This record gives sequence, C-alpha cells and structure tokens, in this order.
Amino acid sequence: MKKIFILGATGSIGGSTLHCLKALQENKDYETKFEITGISFNENIEKAKKILSDFSIKNVVTHQEKAYFEIKKEFPQVKVYFNIEEALKENDFDILVNGISGSAGLLPTITAIKKKAKILLANKETLVIAGEMINELLKKYQTSIIPLDSEHAAIFQLLLKHNINEKNLKKIILTASGGPFFKNHEENPSLEKALKHPNWKMGKKITIDSATMMNKGLEVIEAHFLFNLSYDKIETIIHPESIIHSFILTSDNTHYAQLGSPDMKHPIHNALTHPEIIANDFSPYDLTNKKLTFHEVDYEKFPLLKLAYDCGRKGGSTLIVMNAANEMAVHLFLQKKISYRQIHLIIAEEVNEHQKLKEPQKPNLNEIIALDLAVKSKIKSKFG
Ligand code: NDP
Ligand code: MG
Repeated sequence: MKKIFILGATGSIGGSTLHCLKALQENKDYETKFEITGISFNENIEKAKKILSDFSIKNVVTHQEKAYFEIKKEFPQVKVYFNIEEALKENDFDILVNGISGSAGLLPTITAIKKKAKILLANKETLVIAGEMINELLKKYQTSIIPLDSEHAAIFQLLLKHNINEKNLKKIILTASGGPFFKNHEENPSLEKALKHPNWKMGKKITIDSATMMNKGLEVIEAHFLFNLSYDKIETIIHPESIIHSFILTSDNTHYAQLGSPDMKHPIHNALTHPEIIANDFSPYDLTNKKLTFHEVDYEKFPLLKLAYDCGRKGGSTLIVMNAANEMAVHLFLQKKISYRQIHLIIAEEVNEHQKLKEPQKPNLNEIIALDLAVKSKIKSKFG
C-alpha cells in the first residue's frame, strides 16, 4: 500500500493524477494499491466536494474559511485543515504529488522531503526559486523527485532507459510548442487569445507562461537543478505539434526522443508506477501520415526565454525575483490590470533593478520567502 498526498487536487495536474490513480486501482494486474491520505485545494469547493464523494480521502486542506466549514459539515469523516504544512506534518504518506501553481508549492515540498516522501513534482517554481536548497535536502533526507513536467519526465525516462551517465550525455533539448503566438505572432494580444493554447489543457498561469514562453524558461532552470546540467547543455527547440516531449543527445551524436500525445496522464502514470512499466488503456500516438516540425527559437519574439537563461546563469536571488515578478505580472494580466506586453517589461525591470543590489547568492529559506513576497507586493502596489 502506498500512501499519497495530492496538492492542488482540483487543478489540471490534480485531476489527471486522480484519473491515473483510479485506473491503477482498477487494474487487476497491478498489485500495488494506493491510499489517498489527503488532498489540498484553494477555493474550488464544488470540485473538491466531487472528489471527496468519488474517492475515499481522510484529510483535506483549503485556505478558504467558507470551504473549510462547508466540508467539515458535509463530510464529517474528513479532517479539514487550513494549512498544508500542518496537514503534511500530522499525517504519514509515501508520495507527495505537488500540483500547486507558483511559489506556494515550495514550503510543502520541503515539509514532504523532511518526511522522506518521494516527490512527484509538477510545481516547477519550487526548483526555480530554491533548486540548490531542494537538492541539498533531497540528499540529506535520502529521497528523490520524479518530474511530472512532460519534458523533464521524458528526459528522466530517456536517461534511465538508455543508462546514460554524465560523461556520455552531450546535451538535452527541451521541446516547446511555441504557444498560440508562434505561428501568428502578436505584440500585444488579448487575454482571451493568450489563454487559447494550441495543444495542452492546463491551468491559467502555465497557459500564459506558455504563450510568453516563460514556461520554457522556467523549465530550463528546472532541468538545470533536476539533472545537474550546466545551462550550455540545455537547449530548447520549437516543436508546434507537441508530440516529441524532449530529446537527449549522447556524446556519439545520437539523438534519442520520447513521443506521445500531449496528455499529462502519460508522465503521471509513469511516475506513479516508477520504476515499473505498467499497462494502461491510453491510446498510443498514431504515427501514420503525421508531420513533425522543428524550429529555432526567435528570442526577439520570445524575450522571456532569453531572460530566463540569463537569470539562470546568474542564479541565486535573481531567480526568485524573476519568478515572483512573473507570477505577479501574470496574475495582473489574468485580472486584465496590465497588458500582455507589460508582462515582459515588468519582469525585466525587476530583474535589472535587482542586479544593482548586493543580494545573497545562496539565500536561505526566510530570505527566499521574504524576497518573493517583497517583489510581488511591490508590483501589486504599482499596477494592482
Ligand atoms: P491549476 O491552476 O489547474 O491548479 C492549481 C491547483 O492548486 C488547484 O487545485 C488550486 O486550487 C490550487 N492552488 C492555487 N493556488 C494555490 C495556493 N496559493 N495555495 C495552495 N493551492 C493553490 O494549475 P495546473 O495544474 O495547470 O499547474 C500546477 C503546477 O503544475 C504548476 O506549477 C504548473 O506549472 C505545473 N505543470 C502543469 C502542467 C499542466 O498540464 N497543467 C504541465 C506541467 C507542469 P483551486 O482549484 O481551488 O483554485
Ligand atoms: Mg512542460
């Protein structure tokens, strides 16, 4: 029996995780059984209630008072918490699925690592703002991260299955769809257009990050910390069909790729069943009569990807500033308080201003949290 805690259960990653868990429970050939120790959500109470009715779950976390009392009343068998860390500390679990969006994912990841849980990580922001610290904690508490982000999950599988080590890996190549504005570039598109991702159905924040390609920037940094690779060994390429989830290039100049339909259930199923390969009923990608294309990234059209590489190379507190500015700028864009173009301008200004200060290269947890908050409140007070 594996006990699993799912953060962000009402979201896109959370929903796919629950789907995969249900299918695995019903798979008679798969002996491992899962128990959902707990779930967290923010405010989507109706979806949370549906999950509680469909699955047997003992603990729930919500930050909203109304949801807290409603669930307490309607599901008396469930223990309800206001605070994720408290729920994680009080309960035993083997696996944490982190499907929260943004820097709010950091503290729960740390708490779960300290409980020696395995981390199935979708929340890339955790590694962007605290990658070094997370890697030190993983070592100290002898546990590991299995990436859920499709590109990283592909690389994780490719490295493992081809038995690739540091010496014979030349580089990794992360594929990017290019989002809605790769083919039809627009300088200052509307929110409605930016929210129409051509291939993936995801939460709003990552959908906007995909349109600006900041998502790929965050993923480059995520890959740097996950696979311990220098930024020179991490390339990105536009692949609008989103079928090849990433490549690795070995020292003998051979490319290896992982293919599949753009559906997060694939990497989530792989991670839940790792290191086994367990049959499922997903449709395999149909290879016939398809055209897969690849294009170089145009940094003039997607300046945030270039900025993310630059910030990644600087490392330390610059990454916290970049991430916080992006989170707040995207939040304000989603509320229609700023234009699309302003997202880049706001992040670039914050990062530039930060360069003038002497901030710690290796910030501790309190410094990370304080800087994240300070950057967000500064931008909010200016534009919110
Ligand atoms: P969603 O917006 O769909 O879901 C986010 C989840 O987190 C929801 O359950 C939400 O609750 C909850 N939540 C939101 N804000 C907070 C908060 N401040 N504290 C605690 N919980 C919160 O996001 P996605 O599932 O799309 O993305 C989640 C993470 O996974 C992101 O880091 C994203 O980059 C990453 N990811 C997502 C992919 C995808 O296909 N969706 C692919 C690869 C990575 P509520 O519903 O109640 O608001
Ligand atoms: Mg991805």
